[in-house]
Amino acid sequence: MRVDIVSIFPEYFAPLDLSLIGKARANGTLQLGVHDLRSWTHDVHRTVDDTPYGGGPGMVMRPEPWGAALDALAPAESAAPRLLVPSPAGVPFTQALAYELAAEPHLLFACGRYEGIDQRVLDHAATRMPVTEVSLGDYVLFGGEVAVLVILEAVVRLLPGVLGNAGSLTEESHAHGLLEAPMYTKPATWRGLDVPEVLRSGDHGRIARWRRDAALERTGRRRPDMLAALDPRELDKRDVAA
Ligand code: SAM
Repeated sequence: MRVDIVSIFPEYFAPLDLSLIGKARANGTLQLGVHDLRSWTHDVHRTVDDTPYGGGPGMVMRPEPWGAALDALAPAESAAPRLLVPSPAGVPFTQALAYELAAEPHLLFACGRYEGIDQRVLDHAATRMPVTEVSLGDYVLFGGEVAVLVILEAVVRLLPGVLGNAGSLTEESHAHGLLEAPMYTKPATWRGLDVPEVLRSGDHGRIARWRRDAALERTGRRRPDMLAALDPRELDKRDVAA
């Protein structure tokens, strides 16, 4: 997968050298380009923002540097990338969207700052590439950089070969519309607290049933919305597996 990120703070992306994302870059699974929006400015102050039309507080990112950046990174003669624009007004980022993005050959991220990017940049881009505004949640961050780090982490771990054990992807929260059951490791007793006996029984059928029930109980308690949205066929599948 190819990923390009445009930001006025390219330094934010230093962590993408670390851990499994760093490894994915090193082995070519992920080709990453981080670009400074200011390199597409032409004035001495390298200006990227201006006051909003219609008034109001804050500044808005000007369209010219963004237009030049998108022209350079998504040239008309090449296959169009999918443009992702973090925004608190975007569609919620979910595991389902992470899977959708993991299937794309080329993602291009545009990190907004201030009050966001002039709307015409997105409207113009949408005439030549798919554009998705994505929200991390119902709160407001300073800028899109942290959102891009989150989205990339969720997407890159889905790319083939990135996780040591691909089974982790099918046995985790949100894989089947449920939260994962609590997990335990050694020692069996710690500070007077025991690991549930069933997990030490070696009886794989009982363990699978316990995990299914614990996942249902936890999801119902913490995320009744997820339980309400659960496809009953998913439950049947888990019963069969148990
Ligand atoms: N004026 C915008 C609004 O009210 O919708 C908020 C702008 S915010 C201060 C600056 C930038 O942070 C946004 O352009 C976006 O890139 C990013 N951002 C803020 N909150 C976000 C969220 N919940 N999800 C994704 N990106 C977010």
